[in-house]
Amino acid sequence: MLTSIAGQSVIVTGGSKGIGKGIAKVFAAKGAKVMVTARGLSDAEATVNEIRAAGGTAVAHASDVSDWGSVQGLVTKTLETFGKVDVLCANAGVFPQKKIVDLSPDDWDQVMDTNLKSTFLCVKACIPAFQMAGKGRVVVTSSITGPITGYPGWSHYGASKAGQLGFLRTAAMELARYNTTINAVMPGNIITEGLQDLGQSYLDGMAKAIPLKRLGKVEDIGYAALFLASQEASYITGQTIVVDGGQILPESAEAIDSI
Ligand code: NAP
Repeated sequence: MLTSIAGQSVIVTGGSKGIGKGIAKVFAAKGAKVMVTARGLSDAEATVNEIRAAGGTAVAHASDVSDWGSVQGLVTKTLETFGKVDVLCANAGVFPQKKIVDLSPDDWDQVMDTNLKSTFLCVKACIPAFQMAGKGRVVVTSSITGPITGYPGWSHYGASKAGQLGFLRTAAMELARYNTTINAVMPGNIITEGLQDLGQSYLDGMAKAIPLKRLGKVEDIGYAALFLASQEASYITGQTIVVDGGQILPESAEAIDSI
């Protein structure tokens, strides 16, 4: 199952760290050729080295997903390197925490540009490649925060993640003519380097609030993205998959305590 990903050319934005790194490794392990991109080239190269050491194919490229010229350069580089773009994993994102009372208009714009405008820019830049190939797949990394839940300090982040889903529903209709699907994965709390920095007691507290009693692994998101990018998922478009260990389910603190 999911063998159709072998030999496919896959762009993973934000592929140098965290969830993006997990997605890149899962795709590479299944035989995809992965373009790992982030602003920081050295982190992207470190991820590529790990993939190559495991026998996979990957190339690093520095790009800023909030900048149209940079995103166009990313697609050009991928076409030059792998000859095609089969899959776009629009994953790069930032989540600086600040309550509305302290949030500046510039803070708002920075998060919107990196998380939401970038989704539009990356999809737009890949359309000619999908058109050329006669097919394409887009997998967006959204979040439960915004579309389903709220968290103080993340109003701008939540709006950007909900905005991605509003974008993808119309994009799914427009991309259909290029035989291209677009879907989103909505992670709950996933263990990344950044989350680990918050300390063990924070991680333990979060795990207690999740019915499956553990935080997610980056591979949990990677496998969901892999499925949505596969031939087997070719009839699914404009949809979302929550991958959160059941985190959004409890109605109250009592509900989680009674498991
Ligand atoms: P992370 O570990 O901080 O990694 C973020 C990645 O995005 C890095 O590779 C970073 O590299 C890149 N990036 C940031 N700004 C960029 C820009 N302007 N242009 C290009 N690349 C950029 O974050 P993460 O936790 O893995 O999150 C990845 C995605 O998952 C985000 O969209 C986030 O909203 C979503 N998510 C995460 C969680 C979670 O629990 N971790 C939960 C729900 C959703 P550079 O800084 O070098 O550019």
